[in-house]
Amino acid sequence: MSDFENPAIAALAKRIDPQLTWGQVHIQRVDDGGFEFRHVDDAEAETGALGQVQPDDLRALAETDALGQFRPLKAAPNLRRGWLCQAGGLTELETALRNLYPGSVADWYALELGQAQPTSYRKFTERQTGMYRITAKLTSSQAKPAAEACCHALSCLKQRRWSMDDLPVEDTTHKSVLPCLEPCALMLEFARGVFRFEQHNGAIDEMTPEDQRNLLMAAELAAEQAGPPNREADFAAPGNPRWMRYLRLRLSS
Ligand code: SF4
Repeated sequence: MSDFENPAIAALAKRIDPQLTWGQVHIQRVDDGGFEFRHVDDAEAETGALGQVQPDDLRALAETDALGQFRPLKAAPNLRRGWLCQAGGLTELETALRNLYPGSVADWYALELGQAQPTSYRKFTERQTGMYRITAKLTSSQAKPAAEACCHALSCLKQRRWSMDDLPVEDTTHKSVLPCLEPCALMLEFARGVFRFEQHNGAIDEMTPEDQRNLLMAAELAAEQAGPPNREADFAAPGNPRWMRYLRLRLSS
C-alpha cells in the first residue's frame, strides 16, 4: 500500500535532512527511505541498548513519564528515554509524530504556509463557558505571569504563539520548533486556579512589598516541605513548579 501524501508530513519529511529534532525526538533519515526515531538524549546511544517499539506503540509510551506518572501535556519535556522506533515511510512518520506530539505537524505546517492565525488569550477566554468563564477575568498583571509560568520552557517545549496582552510571543530561541496556537487545557486550568487564588488572597497589588515578600516566603517554605507533587496538573500542591513560578513572578514585581 502506498503512503498517503499528507502535504504537511511531506513538507516535514523534506526538513529531515538527514536529521531533525521535533520536541524531544531525534528523527534520522535512513538508507531505505524510512526514518528512525529516538529520544534526543539517546541520539548517540548504541542501537542495541534501546528497546524497539513500533509507531503505534508511541502513543502508550508518551502517556507516562519515566516514573510512570501520567503526562497531561505531551509537549512537556519529560518524554521517556530508552526506545527506538523505525518508520518505513510517510504514513508511519505521521503515525509516530501524531502519537508523540498530537496536532503538532498540522500546526507547524499551517504556520509555514502563513495560514495559521494564533489566537489571543483574551479572545480565547471570552469564548469559554462553564467553569472556565472566569479565566477571562484575570487582569493583565495576573494573566501575564500565569502564561509565563505555565508555558515556561522547563514545563513545555511548544512556542507560545498566542498573544497575552503585551507579553512577547515565544520563538525557537528557548523552545522547540513546535508551535502552540491557542491556550491548552492545562493553561486554562492553571488560569482558573490563579483566579481562585487571587480572589481568595484579595488585593495582592495593594499589598506592601514586605507583605508580598512574606507571602512568597511562606509559599517557598511550604513548597520545600511538600516537595514536588506527584501529578503535573496538581496546581493545588504547594510544590507545583508552575505555581511557584507564578508566585515568584507575581510577588516580586
Ligand atoms: S498553552 Fe502553554 S503550556 Fe499549553 S501547550 Fe501551549 S505553550 Fe504549552
